[in-house]
Amino acid sequence: MSNAVPAAIAVILSGPSGVGKSTVCRHLFTQLNNTGFSVSCTTRAPRPGEEQGVHYNFVSQEEFAARRDQGEYLEWAEVHGQFYGTPKSEVFPRLTAGTSVILDIDVQGARQIAGNIADTAWKKHFLTVFMAPPSLRVLAERLRGRKTEDTATVQRRLEAGIQEMQHWREYDYLLINDNADAAAATLAAIITAAKCRSIMRNKEPWL
Ligand code: ADP
Ligand code: 5GP
Repeated sequence: MSNAVPAAIAVILSGPSGVGKSTVCRHLFTQLNNTGFSVSCTTRAPRPGEEQGVHYNFVSQEEFAARRDQGEYLEWAEVHGQFYGTPKSEVFPRLTAGTSVILDIDVQGARQIAGNIADTAWKKHFLTVFMAPPSLRVLAERLRGRKTEDTATVQRRLEAGIQEMQHWREYDYLLINDNADAAAATLAAIITAAKCRSIMRNKEPWL
């Protein structure tokens, strides 16, 4: 890394559906400069208010498979019956340019990335954060309160989320989303501290 380019971090952020990952990221981007969101490809339909290319790149099953076969994804997984994948182009060019990036991905995807970067120079740029609700009751209320899924889908996502929460110890950090602004501030602190590690510099920045 050149001395002119600031250290950049890729945060792998996982947590049950409805815990508040998107909400906390929105708050984070108002608190921390030079940080963006990795826009995944997905085969699921957009929810009301979701924009193509902003929240997701919404693609057909065929396009998803073609991109996967061309090796475009850093990782991909089937989640809640739909395909999701992180394009490499959303992550590595930004890290090289000194922009930090948040990857909102599930536990399977987090494990794949850990395997893919294990013996590479990228490893020091990645950290993993698991977001949990203050209680299961709150999680259920948030998922229902979002009103973007029908009752059966909410139930399926809740059950999958409870399973997913069993993996929180695989992550570097546990972030409880009680108040969204406070959770964003904690996440900003984690990223800022990670950037300050001496391992992020090849030589003295002041020379
Ligand atoms: P995720 O991205 O993890 O699926 P969302 O960000 O869509 O979750 O949040 C799910 C719902 O919970 C939304 O209606 C959001 O407004 C609400 N929410 C998120 N964080 C909080 C919080 N800290 N306090 C209260 N409501 C929250
Ligand atoms: P949602 O449909 O609610 O936006 O996301 C459902 C789940 O898919 C969440 O757990 C989210 O973290 C995960 N997800 C979103 N994008 C990706 C991705 O690119 N890869 C993987 N593995 N999971 C993703």
